[in-house]
Amino acid sequence: MRGSIRRFTGAVDFEARASMLRQQPLTLWLTGLSGSGKSTIAYELERHLVALGHPCYVLDGDNIRHGLTSDPGFRPEDRRENIRRVAHVAQLMNDAGLIVITSLISPMREDRAMARNIIGAERFFETYLSASVDTCAARDPKGLYVKAKAGIIPSFTGISAPYEHPEQPDLEIDTALLDEATSVSLIFNYLRTKSFGDLDGCGANRDRH
Ligand code: ADP
Repeated sequence: MRGSIRRFTGAVDFEARASMLRQQPLTLWLTGLSGSGKSTIAYELERHLVALGHPCYVLDGDNIRHGLTSDPGFRPEDRRENIRRVAHVAQLMNDAGLIVITSLISPMREDRAMARNIIGAERFFETYLSASVDTCAARDPKGLYVKAKAGIIPSFTGISAPYEHPEQPDLEIDTALLDEATSVSLIFNYLRTKSFGDLDGCGANRDRH
C-alpha cells in the first residue's frame, strides 16, 4: 500500500527556511533520569532562544503523552514507539526551520540511536543530564520515586527499569554538581555554536532590537 504513496517535493527547501529564520535547525535531545532536570532546562533554553528571536519548540515527553503518544505505555516496545513518533515530529519541525529541544528519559541506547537516525546525525545532539539515581530520587520533583520504590509505579527507570547512559554524548552536564543557571548557560552556549553562533544577534527579532 505504502509503495503507491509518492513523496511530493515543494519549492521551499530546508536551506531556504534555515536562511529565512537565520539559524541552523537542530534537535537537542535531552536524556537522563526522571528528575535529572530535562524539563526545567528545556523550557529555560526555549525562553532564552525565543527572547533572542530564535523559533524553537520543546517536545516534552510528559506533555506529548497526553496526545500524540497517549496510547503507548512504558514497556520497552512502547517507549520505543513513543521515541519513534517524537523523533519524527522533531525531524519535521527541524525541516520547518525550528530548533527543537526534546525532554524524554529515552533510557535505551538503541532507541536514541533510532532517534538520531530519523532526525539525521548532523542535526541530532545528544545531551546527557547525568545526575545519579540517588540525587534524582532525593529531588523527586513529581513524587514518582516514592511511588516507584513502593511498587505503585512499575517499570520505573532507575528503580525497576534500566537506564543505559550515553557512551559518547555530544554534551554531558552533571546537574548534581552544577546549578540550574550554570547548566542552562553551558547548554545554551553549546547550542548557539551549533545553530547560530556565526549569526549572533541575528534571530528573527534582530531588526527589532
Ligand atoms: P525531568 O524533566 O528530568 O524529570 P525536572 O526538570 O522535572 O526533571 O525536575 C528537575 C528538578 O531538579 C527540579 O526541581 C529542578 O529545580 C531541580 N534541579 C536542581 N539542579 C538542577 C539543574 N542543575 N538543572 C536542572 N534542574 C535542577
